[in-house]
Amino acid sequence: MAHSNSDYKQQVFQLAQAIVFDRLEKAGKPIPDDKAPVYVIYARKSTKGKKKNQDGKQVERQERSIPDQIKDCKALAKREGLKVVDILKEEKSARKSANREVFEEMIDEIKSKKSYNAIICWHPDRLGRNMKDAGEIIDLIDRGVIKDLKFPQFSFQRDPNGLMTLGLQFLLAKAYSDNLSINVSRGNENIIGEGKAIGNKALRGYKVVNKRQRPDGKNFKLIQQAFQMGIEGKSQDDIALYLNQNDYTQNGKKAKMSKQLVSAMFLDTSYTGYYVYGKNMVDLTKLDSLFTPAVSYLDYLRLRNILDGKKGYKKVQEKATPLLDQMVVCGYCGNLMTTYLNKNKPDSPTTYLRIKCSTKECYSHSVKGLREIRAKVIFEYIYEVLSSGIGINEKAYNHYVADAKRQLVSSAKELESDQRSISKQINDLESQIEEQQIIVARLEDDEKSVKVAREKIRQARDEIEQLETKLAQIKNQRVDTVSLLKEKVMSYTEFSNFFENIVATLETSDNHLATDSIIRMVFLNFTIKDKKVLTHQWNPKFESIAKIPSVNECRGDRTRTCGLTLPKRAL
Ligand SMILES: [Zn+2]
Repeated sequence: MAHSNSDYKQQVFQLAQAIVFDRLEKAGKPIPDDKAPVYVIYARKSTKGKKKNQDGKQVERQERSIPDQIKDCKALAKREGLKVVDILKEEKSARKSANREVFEEMIDEIKSKKSYNAIICWHPDRLGRNMKDAGEIIDLIDRGVIKDLKFPQFSFQRDPNGLMTLGLQFLLAKAYSDNLSINVSRGNENIIGEGKAIGNKALRGYKVVNKRQRPDGKNFKLIQQAFQMGIEGKSQDDIALYLNQNDYTQNGKKAKMSKQLVSAMFLDTSYTGYYVYGKNMVDLTKLDSLFTPAVSYLDYLRLRNILDGKKGYKKVQEKATPLLDQMVVCGYCGNLMTTYLNKNKPDSPTTYLRIKCSTKECYSHSVKGLREIRAKVIFEYIYEVLSSGIGINEKAYNHYVADAKRQLVSSAKELESDQRSISKQINDLESQIEEQQIIVARLEDDEKSVKVAREKIRQARDEIEQLETKLAQIKNQRVDTVSLLKEKVMSYTEFSNFFENIVATLETSDNHLATDSIIRMVFLNFTIKDKKVLTHQWNPKFESIAKIPSVNECRGDRTRTCGLTLPKRAL
């Protein structure tokens, strides 16, 4: 029942993937096959044509011989481990499609789905020399008949963006603009390959800096707040109003938010780092170490739970709370129960913490009042367990402390090396700025170059600012770790006394966070049935140092057993 951040991450990943599959399905495109495509290499010498160079003069096109094209294609196949079953050569000049016999044979073969279903070709301009052929290739890819295209000169992705780029390549090939086309494809390759923010569209609350998503100051805080309001159950109308009243801007312009726009934002996993674009998805936290999510995986899941759970239910003003969250299991259906704060009447001075089973199909929903309990029931159970003679095992405790110290030492080392590597990145960026400053000084009169250099300087400064924030965080963590190491660890006696005082602390504390962390220190979860706590599990860390009395050691004056299960207590 333990939930870690990586579990949450996995769940958000699945949601993001579902969006992608949904879009693929809606577009009527087949979901990519699991089977690896089988390739044919297609080589063709193009007609000797002319192209215009940058000055507009006609120059002879550079050609690559058929053997050289095949060599390049084979090298690509080897590098990427592609299965090639045939090599086709189109020798003669092919100005009219009627002459292109080999090409047409290849297309027929692909349509028959017998030997191969994918093509490796030196460059798109060899495949789509006229628009009829180009149109056919694009159509076959779109329908999933051609499973893949590979070019040593060009990177192609089988999605609408890829198709558009390919179409552009064909058009460019037609216009003999080889240089330009290669530049376009390189640009695309870099953007997709490095996961840089994939287009220039900023997420809400972000600005695109050097093609990466970066928090946009006050707007980022507003968007974070919007997600929090969503988690707290505020209506999407209220959230839109909040953003509008606080002058939320996007790309420097005032953006008017609506219920629909808030709803779309909440459905988008991109704000956790699972960036969905078109029918693709990347993990920005992996590709961009400086990416800052607007919402954590857990909070995002909480938000989605609330959104889904509200459909068809009467709307109650419910407030999410960390207290006992993800710790209480329904004994009827086995699912986690939801904790929330609630007032009996809107103007009532007392807020109750309640726990309910939100699984609609659960048996508890069929009996009135069975699906919900007050958290008080669990607290009383906790007091009772904690005052039932649980002690601390001295040997285990000392062992645990030694272990914790070792972990502290190793994380201190890790932090030190992180700090070094970030400092180095900052130094590198600083020398880049110096280089650009020299360019600015030298090319004073070249307005265009100066503008480019200034932009580079600005971007590098932005990156430095981000890295410095991260560096400051790491330095703080290091200070914390080092002082923890230096700190006198509680002796066994001290810890035993502390533990004995826990019950009193819990009974008197109205600090939810402190109460929650104490409970989590000792317990992993509770199972509820029949409006009572049926059983609990210990936190394994605690269990390893605890001396838990067995049933026999239990004081006889109590009508219950101790240990792993504590049966019914009176309410
Ligand atoms: Zn249930």
